[in-house]
Amino acid sequence: MKEPFQKALGIIRQLKQHGYEAYFVGGAVRDLLLGRKIGDVDIATSALPHEVMKLFPKTIDIGSQHGTVVVIDDGIPYEVTTFRTDGDYEDHRRPESVTFVRSLYEDLKRRDFTMNAVAMDEQGKLIDPFGGQDAIAKRVICTVGEAKQRFSEDALRMMRALRFVSQLGFSLAEETRQAIVENAPLLAHISVERMTMEFEKLLEGPFASRGLSLLVETGLFSYLPLLRDKGHDLKAAVGYDWSLLDSRGQRWGLLCQTLHITDADSFLRAWKLPNRLIKEVEAVLSILREVHSFGDWTKERLFAFGLEHAISAETVRSVIQGEPVEKHLQMLNEMFAALPIKTKNELAVSGKDLIEWFEKPGGPWIKEMLAVVERAVIHGEVDNHKERIYEWLMDRNRIQEKNY
Ligand code: ATP
Ligand code: MG
Repeated sequence: MKEPFQKALGIIRQLKQHGYEAYFVGGAVRDLLLGRKIGDVDIATSALPHEVMKLFPKTIDIGSQHGTVVVIDDGIPYEVTTFRTDGDYEDHRRPESVTFVRSLYEDLKRRDFTMNAVAMDEQGKLIDPFGGQDAIAKRVICTVGEAKQRFSEDALRMMRALRFVSQLGFSLAEETRQAIVENAPLLAHISVERMTMEFEKLLEGPFASRGLSLLVETGLFSYLPLLRDKGHDLKAAVGYDWSLLDSRGQRWGLLCQTLHITDADSFLRAWKLPNRLIKEVEAVLSILREVHSFGDWTKERLFAFGLEHAISAETVRSVIQGEPVEKHLQMLNEMFAALPIKTKNELAVSGKDLIEWFEKPGGPWIKEMLAVVERAVIHGEVDNHKERIYEWLMDRNRIQEKNY
C-alpha cells in the first residue's frame, strides 16, 4: 500500500478492532487510482463521532455534529467522518442536518461524483458501487445518481465539477453537463466564500482553460460575483496559458486585466478576497497601466514597485502577449540585484539625521530631501553610507547656495 495510506492504516485497524467498519474514501482514493499525487487521506467509519474520540488519544472536534473528527496520528491529521446521509436540502446548499448511518453504501451514495465515491479497505480492496473506477479510466466526471437532482440539492457541486475538470483534465459526462446548464441559476444560493474557493482552484489547475471554457459554455459564469456581463471577455481568458502564473495575485491580476475591470477594489471585494491580496492585485494592475506609458523598466521604477510586484506584472503581461516570460524576469532580477538598496528602510540616513545636520525643524522638506538622497543612492551617485551622504548633501547645498 502506498505510503500515505500505509501511515494511516493504524487508524483503520484501531477502529476495526473495536468492531467498527472503516475505509479510505474520497479524493485520496481517486488520486491513487489516477496515479496522481495523493493529498489528504480521509477515512469514513461506522463509529459515531464520540466513539471515535474515545478510541484515539489525540482528536480535534472540527464538526462532530456533521460527523467529522480529526484524529492526529504521528503528527499527521486525518479527517475521520461517520457514515452519513445528508438530511433535507433547503435553499440548494449544504444540508443543515445529517443522519448518521451504519452503511458504507449510503455514505458513498451522498458523495458528489462517481470518481469521489470509491472506498478502499485495509487490504487495498476497492468498494465501488457507482462505477467510479470506470469513470476514472474514461476520464469522465459524472454525478452519483441523477445529475439534476444532485446539483439542485447542493449547487456548489457544479463549481466543483468544473474545478475538477481544471485539476484533472477530465471531461463532463453529457448528463452532468446538461444539468449544469439547466441548474446554473441555483449557484446564486451559494455563499461567495465557497464559490471563490472553488473558482481559485479552477484557475490554479493545469487545465484551467478547459474549466474556464466550460464556465462560459454552461452559463455558470453569470452567477459568479460581478461576472454577469463578462461572458465575451471571459472567452478571451480561455485562450491564455494560466499554468504560467504562479501566485494568486497574478491570477486575479490577469483576470481583472482581461475583464477590463476598472475598479479592482470593488470587484475583488465582491469575491470576498483578503485585503493583502487586493493590494497586491492593485499594484500589479497599476504597473500594467503605467508600463504602456513608461516603456522600459528603470532602476527607480523597480525600486518603487518592488521586485515581487514587477515580476507578477511582467508575468501577466507575457501571458497576455503570448511571449516567453523568462527573458523579462531575468532582466528584472539582474536589475534588482544591482540596486544598492532594495527598500526605503535600507537608506543609511533618516529624517532625524537631516534635522540634526541642517539644524532646521522638521517639515515637508524632510520627505523631499530623503527622496533626493534615495534617488542618488539608487543611481549610484553616492554610496549608501552615512558620512558619504552627509558630504554629498553639504556639497549639493553649497552649489545650490552659490547658484542663488
Ligand atoms: P481535493 O483533492 O481537492 O481535496 P477531494 O475530492 O478530496 O479533492 P474535498 O473537498 O476534500 O474533495 O472533499 C472530500 C470528499 O467529500 C469528496 O471526494 C467527495 O466524496 C465528498 N464531497 C465534498 N464536497 C461534496 C459536496 N458538495 N457534495 C457531495 N460530496 C462532497
Ligand atoms: Mg480532500
